[in-house]
Amino acid sequence: MPLFRTAAVVLRTRDLGEHDRLVSLYTRDLGRLTAVARSARRVRSRFGGALELFTWGDAVGFERPGRELLRLDQFDIHRSFRRLREDLERLGQGARIVEAVARLTAERDPQPGCFHLLTRALRALETGHPGRVQLAFALRFLDLTGHRPRLDRCAGCGRPVGTAGVGFDPGQGGVTCAGCRPAGAAPVSPRVLGALRGLQAASWEARLAARVPAAVEEEAAGLLDGYLAALAGGALRTPRFLARTVAAGGPEAPAPLTDGWDRSASARCPPRTP
Ligand SMILES: [Zn+2]
Repeated sequence: MPLFRTAAVVLRTRDLGEHDRLVSLYTRDLGRLTAVARSARRVRSRFGGALELFTWGDAVGFERPGRELLRLDQFDIHRSFRRLREDLERLGQGARIVEAVARLTAERDPQPGCFHLLTRALRALETGHPGRVQLAFALRFLDLTGHRPRLDRCAGCGRPVGTAGVGFDPGQGGVTCAGCRPAGAAPVSPRVLGALRGLQAASWEARLAARVPAAVEEEAAGLLDGYLAALAGGALRTPRFLARTVAAGGPEAPAPLTDGWDRSASARCPPRTP
């Protein structure tokens, strides 16, 4: 792969050396990539403001013989998604979306369906209800990566579960009956379970338009966060950022967007089931 040219979304960036930037991209044709953007922090950089979080563009770059990191040569903006960076709630939910993609996809494992979902979710986040877009994204993303949560039968004994005494076991990726519920497994209230079943069965458009109380939506999203964290092998950072922001009643430094850079994350990626 001496040269690549592909549609891509900026997942994360980090300063590198004095003038460069390390950029994590999710690309349509090559999956997740990490590349060095030389001189990207110089005033008259050829990248301009193209390498901002969420930016969707066309990436052109090279593989460097003997070097693990790719070199990013050019990034032409298709859509900057600036609005998502200017609104705290959209920023937080967008960060939650890109963190899931960054943590649960492997480097150089192309999955065009995931790329399409990512751009679709970011577009919906520009005008839609941020929490709902994130929840719709999480359900679809779990489907695409082979981790669709099981919500009708017990993950332990396989019997159909009702709504009483139900738990969710992130380790098994599904609900459990009262008898099989492992110690520490989060309980799932009947209304959250009902909402998740309804949303899981619905189309993307119907998910975004469904009437779900905010408290139920938040609890459902928290449950899926726990599942995503189990799959990623460690807690996600952005939900904590959102919780702190809401508790503080205002913005704080969005450290989760750039900290915790972990290039070994792909090593923890769970195998995809066919
Ligand atoms: Zn059971």
